[in-house]
Amino acid sequence: MTHTPTILLVDDSPLVHKVYGPPLEAAGFRVLHTSDGIAAINTAMTQQPDVIVLDIYMPKINGYQVCRLLKDHAATKAIPMILITGGEAGRLVADPKRWSFETGADAYIEKGSGDLVAEVRRMLVSAPPSKTRRHPRTPLTEVEIMTALSALLDKQLYHDVSHLQELNEKKSAFVSLVAHELKAPLTVIKGSIDNMGHGTYGGLSASQRACLALVNRTVDRLVRLIRELLDLTRIEAGRIVLQRAPVSLGELLHEVIADYQAEAAARQLIIQHEGLSAEAVVHGDRDRLEQVFINLLTNAIKWTPEGGMITVALSRHAQHLRVTVTDTGIGVGATHHERIFQLFERVDPEDGQGVGLGLPIARTLIELHGGRLWVESDGQHGSTFTVELPRVS
Ligand code: ADP
Repeated sequence: MTHTPTILLVDDSPLVHKVYGPPLEAAGFRVLHTSDGIAAINTAMTQQPDVIVLDIYMPKINGYQVCRLLKDHAATKAIPMILITGGEAGRLVADPKRWSFETGADAYIEKGSGDLVAEVRRMLVSAPPSKTRRHPRTPLTEVEIMTALSALLDKQLYHDVSHLQELNEKKSAFVSLVAHELKAPLTVIKGSIDNMGHGTYGGLSASQRACLALVNRTVDRLVRLIRELLDLTRIEAGRIVLQRAPVSLGELLHEVIADYQAEAAARQLIIQHEGLSAEAVVHGDRDRLEQVFINLLTNAIKWTPEGGMITVALSRHAQHLRVTVTDTGIGVGATHHERIFQLFERVDPEDGQGVGLGLPIARTLIELHGGRLWVESDGQHGSTFTVELPRVS
């Protein structure tokens, strides 16, 4: 006796059953009708249809969930599933077709546009009714179905999160590789510029010097960007290791200020300092602390208009040392006080300066030292960035 293929049609709309039922029967199929996801799962388990035609947007448990659950179950995973949808599926996800295949569907058609009978025939050819598949199961209660679904969604979520993490790690490794590759040629360029500037290849005219200075500043910006990218990947991978030793903050700040006096003077800015005592010592990574103070000082120089004043002050407190970098610049509005410490955030993304990595990295470095970094500003009269570090003396 030849087997009559059984098609399970699942839709909460009686109209759909009226529209699709007769042509399927006319094509020689036996059609089972159910109107919700729970009944669909149980009919699929107990009746073992040869193809399931499943509406997406249904109350209680939607077509994607039914599809995922049946495709995850040994008794039903081999049954081809066609997801059908009207425009309403867009209410659940932006791209119902892609999502249907993500959830395990074998085909997807839009109500009124595809040829359902032809699609069912195609499914029967690619997955012919099989006797080995027919192991009817006892029906599941609604609670059992909901529990199975929730376990499945947890599994899926875990899989998705692990997958995203894996992708993220690959991306970080790639950024790190590119940054390393860029570093070597930039070091060569930087060395050559320095040699030219020192007259190793002969004297330079004033305009050649000006041009070289511009190249030098541009290369410095690139070097800084690459360093920030490398730091970012190290932070993401939890790979920043501090080389700690006693550091005199007073001495360190004197050096940093001296390095930037010329740049400040060129912009007619005055840098003054207060309380930079050599006895103020922290247990920290000198290079990393220097990086933080350079970031704060260069930001102050960058965001303070000509004629302004920058004050670097050091003060000792019972448990910690505090360094404040105060400028008379454009300030930071209250809504941005926390934002500027987030990765890639800048007050004005259009300004074209920097990529918004400096402050988040600086804050991470200070926190690794057991300290804090924050900003105070009324958004009009300059800003004060404060670094607080546990003190040794
Ligand atoms: P970038 O490296 O792009 O300069 P940062 O993380 O160092 O990024 O700074 C983020 C943003 O914080 C800057 O784009 C700027 O809008 C704001 N900012 C930082 N320092 C100051 C300052 N001293 N005065 C005003 N705005 C500042």
